Amino acid sequence: MIDVELESVSKRFARSAEAAAVDDVTLTIGAGEFFTLLGPSGCGKTTTLRMVAGFYFPTVGHIRFGGQDVTRLAPNKRDTGMVFQNYALFPHMTVAQNVAYGLKVRKVSRADTSRRVAEALAQVHLDGYGARRIDELSGGQQQRVALARALVIRPRMLLLDEPLSNLDAKLREETRTEIRRIQREAGTTSIYVTHDQAEAMAMSDRIAVMQAGRVQQIGTPREVYHQPANAFVARFIGRSNVLSLPVTTADATRVEVALPGGGHVAAGAPDGHGLRAGDTALVSARPEHIALAGPDDPDVIRGRVTALEFTGMATHLTVDIGTEDGGEVTVAAVDVPDRVDVGDRVGLRLSADRLWV
Ligand code: ADP
Ligand code: MG
Repeated sequence: MIDVELESVSKRFARSAEAAAVDDVTLTIGAGEFFTLLGPSGCGKTTTLRMVAGFYFPTVGHIRFGGQDVTRLAPNKRDTGMVFQNYALFPHMTVAQNVAYGLKVRKVSRADTSRRVAEALAQVHLDGYGARRIDELSGGQQQRVALARALVIRPRMLLLDEPLSNLDAKLREETRTEIRRIQREAGTTSIYVTHDQAEAMAMSDRIAVMQAGRVQQIGTPREVYHQPANAFVARFIGRSNVLSLPVTTADATRVEVALPGGGHVAAGAPDGHGLRAGDTALVSARPEHIALAGPDDPDVIRGRVTALEFTGMATHLTVDIGTEDGGEVTVAAVDVPDRVDVGDRVGLRLSADRLWV
């Protein structure tokens, strides 16, 4: 178990490149923590992970493991176990030979190797699969072999780059639970890369949300969900409605905004954001924090239903609220009367204690 520190780390692939692939990233990962880099394709997640592994060196900045500067240390001196999206297993070798690979390179004795390979296969629930060929295994089993191969060297840190993206939906969910169980048991500090926000939320102690090479927010799944730092995070994590609304009053912790069509609602705001009456606030409202009301009730946003999806657990409504920018709001209501249909006029009530500026 070891902590990791990135201090003002940037990576520019070509001197001429105008945008850095990773741009001034500073973060600290605690010993034993499961930390996720989350963001859309191309935002710099893999590049960041590869700098931690030592496959790339930062253009500027420092990386430290347990206080020791490793910024320009070779990958094989860093003691990290890496799991890739495409598994990168040797197809012509057996499961046991694949898992043993890192031990062979480290010249571990034959007896220790077979004991540690058996242990690692047990860890990933593949006891007895040692003699199988890789191409005899399912995708999920291959992914677990890749995990065993990373764990067998008892790395100081586990680095996982989109390891589940080649699995189908059900197996992906099972395997993510499995990865987290194994990580908890081993207590290995882990950095996990994904573009899938549900996966990040379900697995992580903390998440760094990235966009265009920069960290937008670092927080627990609850923090990034309920208190997004900006509109990008609000929209990227789960479904969110981001509404531009005029501020009527503001103090240090709350901002009151005017609703289209009359009425007011208060929203939580970090430091009031320095907003004043007359400013425009971006208010994030999760679908489950908007309740359906009648179109003529007080303090509601009025609109017309443009789409309706029954999902079993809840009904998702899309409501045209007729703002100048063609504003639409998604509502996840648990209790929608059967008579509500596309084209109906409705009122939407925002639950004030969950709104966030
Ligand atoms: P992600 O993993 O979030 O999808 P990457 O870290 O792979 O993103 O890429 C970030 C940016 O850096 C992208 O614009 C990508 O095209 C660029 N990039 C990544 N690797 C290289 C490379 N080896 N050479 C040049 N550009 C690269
Ligand atoms: Mg990537």
